[in-house]
Amino acid sequence: MLDETHSTAAAPLPDFARRRTFAIISHPDAGKTTLTEKLLLASGAIRMAGHVKARGERRRTRSDWMEIEQQRGISVTSSVMTFERDGIVFNLLDTPGHSDFSEDTYRTLSAVDAAVMVIDAAKGIESQTRKLFEVCRLRDIPIFTFVNKVDRESLDPIALMDEVSSTLALDLTPLTWPIGMGVDFRGLIDIANKKALLATERGGPLVREVPFETPEDLIDLEGVEERIINEAVESLTLALGVLPPFELASFREGHLSPVYFGSALKEAGVAELLFGLGDVGPSPLPRSARGRTVEPAEDLVSGFVFKVQANMDPNHRDRVAFVRLCSGRFKRGMKLFNPREKRQMAIANPIFFFAQERETVDEAVAGDIIGIPNHGMLRVGDTLSEGETIRFEGLPDFAPEILRRVLLSDPMKAKQLQKALQDMAEEGVVQVIKPVSDPSPIVGVVGTLQLDVLAARLEKEYGVPIRYEAVSFVTARWIVGERAEVERFMEANRSSTARDRDEAPVYLARSQWVLDRAIEEWPKLKFVAVKERG
Ligand code: GDP
Repeated sequence: MLDETHSTAAAPLPDFARRRTFAIISHPDAGKTTLTEKLLLASGAIRMAGHVKARGERRRTRSDWMEIEQQRGISVTSSVMTFERDGIVFNLLDTPGHSDFSEDTYRTLSAVDAAVMVIDAAKGIESQTRKLFEVCRLRDIPIFTFVNKVDRESLDPIALMDEVSSTLALDLTPLTWPIGMGVDFRGLIDIANKKALLATERGGPLVREVPFETPEDLIDLEGVEERIINEAVESLTLALGVLPPFELASFREGHLSPVYFGSALKEAGVAELLFGLGDVGPSPLPRSARGRTVEPAEDLVSGFVFKVQANMDPNHRDRVAFVRLCSGRFKRGMKLFNPREKRQMAIANPIFFFAQERETVDEAVAGDIIGIPNHGMLRVGDTLSEGETIRFEGLPDFAPEILRRVLLSDPMKAKQLQKALQDMAEEGVVQVIKPVSDPSPIVGVVGTLQLDVLAARLEKEYGVPIRYEAVSFVTARWIVGERAEVERFMEANRSSTARDRDEAPVYLARSQWVLDRAIEEWPKLKFVAVKERG
């Protein structure tokens, strides 16, 4: 099932065709961190597992505001890891693992071309997996499924596939299959490559390979208890009989997910997953922008900012903008144009994220992520190009579900608060809404954790302690329509209207019923929950 990007045609592949930019989505505890480590290990990028966590901890101790993360044992920020194997460059974008769905996660997923969905074999689909899956589905991102922890007591593989398939309305096809689960776990059947992978000692690495033509050849396989191997062959045969075969087009459209069973902890099935990512995972896809589609093979550089992260040193207010390149060949020192600011910026010191830290990279292509340190010039959603005004689609703002008024403990700090909130809004931590008839700003978030992060950071980084006050609004909507009509509405509803940081008009509804009534009474206006940027 070789992919066209691996073809042996005479012309060498363009560099971008060797990129695989993906994220891992999962419910907390399913094994994302362990799988990330083992993927890096399988690629040879690191020699010792445990590296990812160790690195994460070093980073954490360096930044005070991340205390909040330590307390809760969750990862609030995301990062990028680049590694290489067999000539393929993998860019793994980490999504926050906590259970508050945040816009940050959404935007990170907007920058990838594929996702690996990790499922705990004992638990099946959990709430967070499902939410993240839905985000991927909105963009038809192809999804690999990794059923983790088969070395533990698990659900039966067929029942599990059934549950995943029906819960997500997604076709599945197995590419590896477990030989026993829990204490019976003996190895995997690599269906695509027609070989059984077995441990030579109980619980050891899967170093013994036994080729086969059809799974039935494995019946009574020497070295594995008869009951275990025969049950595995029987259930696999049953599964292959009822499940669709792997089909590249269907996978690439996001309808069919190849399933890898394995154990990240025991490094079982991880190399097979990595091979699959390289083999059938999509190379950078064309990106739709307003008015045209940007192809990765285009000569001129373009990209968009999907994340802005405060630098780890709280004393310096510089921030790193994470840019996903969509076309062209980026070179260090290049000047790029930001249409929102209507100016060029020289990218003198871009950051690349190679797992081998010694590597210095001066060039990057479509699919790659570069970090650009800046002092607030770049915002989430910004486009960079070599001159053309491009507006990539798919990086919307979401109407916040949770609204709070921000009150200063020290009224002398109004100016600092304003600046701090502006920074936080640019990083995408919160949305800031200015009510028309009240000087105290309102912040809006999608998950309550963002409120804690905001308060902690305002105090630590800006010396501005704040309190939150409940507001009598349940939701916010952007008001869209002809200018005169919008203004008429705002005049008639002064106490429940506001402006966002781009001065776009916002309606703050006191209840769903009131919102429904406004929709009915103002038919020429639209009250939208999702706003495209730019
Ligand atoms: P995350 O929250 O999704 O990043 O999950 P972690 O990678 O931190 O894993 C959560 C727990 O499950 C840890 O204690 C891991 O050691 C354990 N774990 C992860 N993968 C496996 C596996 O394949 N088998 C077993 N038995 N435990 C695992």
